[in-house]
Amino acid sequence: MNLQTKPISEITRFTTLDFPDRLSCIVWFSGCQMRCPYCYNPQMVLEDGKISLEELFKFLNSRKGKLDGVVLSGGESTLFPQIELLCKEIKDMGFEVKIDTNGLMPQRVKSLVKKGLVDFISLDFKAPKEKFNIITKTNGYEKLQETLAFLIENEFKFEVRTTVHPDLLNEDDINQIISTLHSFGYKGRYALQKYLHVIPTLGETKEPKNHFDIKKLNNIFDIEFRNF
Ligand code: SF4
Repeated sequence: MNLQTKPISEITRFTTLDFPDRLSCIVWFSGCQMRCPYCYNPQMVLEDGKISLEELFKFLNSRKGKLDGVVLSGGESTLFPQIELLCKEIKDMGFEVKIDTNGLMPQRVKSLVKKGLVDFISLDFKAPKEKFNIITKTNGYEKLQETLAFLIENEFKFEVRTTVHPDLLNEDDINQIISTLHSFGYKGRYALQKYLHVIPTLGETKEPKNHFDIKKLNNIFDIEFRNF
């Protein structure tokens, strides 16, 4: 692994919120295949990273015994070509690894899971099939489905998340996602994260005009509401 490579935009040194029941740091990778309009990390998505792997390892060495886990987020961490080697080295240092992913790299996710290089995954389910291209500006819905199906079949520990901007996704859209998850046999946690208006976003989204009524949602799952 070339330690001078700079794939990282930022490091959050400490969080109790992101990795369930773990004290962790967050490593924010630059680059993403998607272009979600509400994305509040436009510079991470569009610009090159500025932190090297060498700097990351130096930081992680100083956190041994203080943190339990490392969250690889972004951007899209699975785009990093040497993600497997990186996860292995992080685990060899004694940390657990969580990956936040948009699900568009099923082969990488499968390989990480099969090799035991990841402990928990947050999978973003950005939109139902009909709106997937509009929201993400990709045609990756089948890839997301492949990732989802694999994680369910392998009974891997993961959560599914959707960000809700009420002008982009309504209650019917979320019910459609819930139906899809149900039809795949998903029984884990589904988290709905309400869009918080911050500037700038990738698509210069505005404050939502529409109301989102959580009472209209199917209660097949226990939904965790974040920021509602
Ligand atoms: S919100 Fe969308 S564009 Fe932004 S990092 Fe996540 S997947 Fe990529």
